[in-house]
Amino acid sequence: MRKYYPNEVIIGESVVYSLSDWYRELRPFITTVEDWIFSADQCYRTLLDLFNISSLKGFGCDDLKAGLTAGGGLIYHIQTDLNIRVDHVTKMKPVLDKGIMGLDSFTIRNLEVFKSLSTQGTHGTLVDCIDYTETAGGGRLLKKWLHQPLTNINRLNSRLDIVSSFYGQKGLLNKIRDILGITIDLERVLGRINRGVGTPRDLIGLAHTLSYIPGWCKQFQDSNEKPLIELISEFIDVSVVVDRIMDTINEDSPAQIKQGSVIKAKIDSKLDELRILLANGKQWISDFQSSESNRLEIPSLKVGFNKVFGYYIEVTKTHQQKVPESYIRKQTLVNSERYITEELKQYEEKVLTAEERILEIENRIIQEVMDDTMALASDIQANAEVINRIDLLASFAATALSQRYVRPELTDEPILQIKAGRHPVVETLLPATEKFIPNHLSMDALVNQIHLLTGPNMAGKSTYLRQNGLIVLMAQIGCFIPAKSGKIGIVDRLFTRVGASDNLAGGESTFLVEMNEAANILNNASNRSLILLDEIGRGTATFDGLSLAWAITEYLHQNEDVAARTIFATHYHELTDLEASLERLENHHVEVKEFGDRIIFLRTIADGPGDKSYGIHVAKMAGLPASIVSRAWEILHHHVQNAKNKDGTSLPIESSERITLFQEQESRLRKDLNELDIDSITPLEALTKLGEIKKEYDL
Ligand code: ATP
Repeated sequence: MRKYYPNEVIIGESVVYSLSDWYRELRPFITTVEDWIFSADQCYRTLLDLFNISSLKGFGCDDLKAGLTAGGGLIYHIQTDLNIRVDHVTKMKPVLDKGIMGLDSFTIRNLEVFKSLSTQGTHGTLVDCIDYTETAGGGRLLKKWLHQPLTNINRLNSRLDIVSSFYGQKGLLNKIRDILGITIDLERVLGRINRGVGTPRDLIGLAHTLSYIPGWCKQFQDSNEKPLIELISEFIDVSVVVDRIMDTINEDSPAQIKQGSVIKAKIDSKLDELRILLANGKQWISDFQSSESNRLEIPSLKVGFNKVFGYYIEVTKTHQQKVPESYIRKQTLVNSERYITEELKQYEEKVLTAEERILEIENRIIQEVMDDTMALASDIQANAEVINRIDLLASFAATALSQRYVRPELTDEPILQIKAGRHPVVETLLPATEKFIPNHLSMDALVNQIHLLTGPNMAGKSTYLRQNGLIVLMAQIGCFIPAKSGKIGIVDRLFTRVGASDNLAGGESTFLVEMNEAANILNNASNRSLILLDEIGRGTATFDGLSLAWAITEYLHQNEDVAARTIFATHYHELTDLEASLERLENHHVEVKEFGDRIIFLRTIADGPGDKSYGIHVAKMAGLPASIVSRAWEILHHHVQNAKNKDGTSLPIESSERITLFQEQESRLRKDLNELDIDSITPLEALTKLGEIKKEYDL
């Protein structure tokens, strides 16, 4: 559920939800319904009735009890409690994990796919950055694909083939996108018509949109691009609906039926007759005004209409003496009097009756057209799905052209070869004076499975980590990627643990959230996964954290089942020693140049371990008071002095933390040895103890 961020959750009334994690995190609107609505039999029956079939096997979800219960309960609630028709729901599809990349809620959040971590808005998110769709349906499809990236190379390649075709046919791409921009949201309109709130304009919009299909088919056919030709073969001919609407309804219909003139002439003879009657009546009334004005010599005499009195004759006070006896006074105003006559009333009756009947007939015909449209709802929906796909894949091509993205090459090998990769969002948000520095990633799970990334604060570690995650995600929805080239080994699950965040509302501390995320990764990763770790263990005491990070890295390396491709960014420089013992671990660092107490960020990833974290430099750049910065330097030097080598020489700053760890180990070892009473143990016990010590201290 946390993957989908629902706005509303419908729940049985006896379910206690207020303490559950999903509720505390998402706070959706809760609607409670009677419990029996979610009984399995009831739900199954509701779905059978909806589709008017005798078994749900054809939908491939007959045994998905929980899913059917949720689906049936929801449909029942909409039909019965909300009293809304759902005839436009013509099929259902199980959401299966098979063929879909595993993407948990932590990863979606940490990669800022839909929501920015800092503002909770969409600015600065992946979806915002790559959404060049022209239609609402295309935008919805993009979100769906981002929730369910694929792992099937054939399916992905057929998406990428279409993007490539559009990419290579700029003229066609622009034409299609221009037209898409003036289409209407077919799915929404079908929903409105179904709920009985559709308007004549909705029908006209629907017909216009569907009428572009033959033109697209021709253009795609003429392009000779096989992927585009295949795509249009999925369109279903619904020209009967288009013709029915276009033949019946006036193109410039008003928004509401009651405003009249919605149905074309020659559709209904009674309607045509009534319209003539109405026009004659109105003409008589306007003729009546001029003849009375001449006859009575009152130039200002006017015939008007209002809802209370109907038609009336208005005469200003100055001409009152000319008003004949046959005029019946109806209303007195400040400067004029209003009258009616028997004759005028008769024509009024004719006009109003004709108007009423016209409205009745127009309403009936509109309803018939809507019913005819709904009879083909599932075909129209199928076309809407193809249009959404065209829009989204054309949008990928447009994004690729404007942002210089390239087509990724997909493979089943556990590799990631990304040349000059860029972070799709950060590169667009940098100020004009700064240039995004591209970086490579060359990873093969069998050779260099774990990349340990060190480097100063602010150097660009998190950006690099996320950019590679986003590139994989983009490739696996069929989108081009921000790089010079990219060979992407399909990832079955993508895990991203970035930075510290807490879930205080959910009763979890920063460190617990961090460990929850780590546990999720270690329990669910496979050797086909990609793990991006941005610091682990920072939320607790240094040695606890370092030990955890160390053990986690070893675990990922040593256990074949979870030996996932991993990029691990850390400030624990001690971990770089692991390169000596873990053969598939490789050290990398982000380069900086140091000038006295200033540093320049080069943003390039280089081989080998980083030397130090430059935390105090960065704190100074951030504007920490000078007295604090100089005191921090003093304290740092003090620690370094204390961490003296055995031969008395001062250690380099960068090794100080590492030495502190070893010093602690050494003192524990000393204590263990001191506690040994050599006089009272046997040689065998001494040997056993020696073995234990060697094992404990990894000697
Ligand atoms: P910390 O260790 O403090 O978390 P970090 O090494 O993870 O820092 P980032 O947060 O990735 O650093 O980067 C800091 C800023 O540097 C980014 O917000 C971005 O503006 C800029 N930056 C990062 N990478 C690049 C790049 N490749 N090219 C240009 N600017 C970059």
